[in-house]
Amino acid sequence: MSVARGPRRGIVLSRLPRRGYVIREKYLRRFRTLARQLSDAPLDPDTTFDGLLHMGEDGNEIWVEASLSEPEKRFTIVHELVHARRQRAGEDLDDDLLEEPIVELETIARVGRRTLSRMPSGMTLAVLHDYLTRRGRDDPETPRGLRAVYERIWTLLGMRGRRVEGAVATLAAHRRPAGVRRSRGR
Ligand SMILES: [Zn+2]
Repeated sequence: MSVARGPRRGIVLSRLPRRGYVIREKYLRRFRTLARQLSDAPLDPDTTFDGLLHMGEDGNEIWVEASLSEPEKRFTIVHELVHARRQRAGEDLDDDLLEEPIVELETIARVGRRTLSRMPSGMTLAVLHDYLTRRGRDDPETPRGLRAVYERIWTLLGMRGRRVEGAVATLAAHRRPAGVRRSRGR
């Protein structure tokens, strides 16, 4: 884990907790009902899952939809690890309508251009990646780089000008209890 020095400035953990997670490929789309039962919020019956994050005492697992292409699987795994990073850092928001786009944008910043360009809408994703990372000059694995990425995430989400902690406080974020967390779409 990479820990920011000095006073807390919103981002404490910048590295993804890759080592702590077992990745399993599952046919999640075939088991929608089960996935719905495992998730922690009411869901539309048509919701599909490409990834699920399970953090529990028995271990941490990420389930990824087996029928995805390799670039999409890689993207989905990073997406779930970003959920895990934000939960561990206490950054995750209760409001999924805001939390999901934040996670998605951090994921786009972290996934390499080559993988992004092989995904559906790859060109758009690569352009977003360049914007979020200042063409790779801001490395989201470092506290400083991740803070810079987050400044642009806030800009894209129309929250520019507020400090990260301020935005989080305004939204009255609480940590969720550890457990299964769903991921809608990617
Ligand atoms: Zn998600």
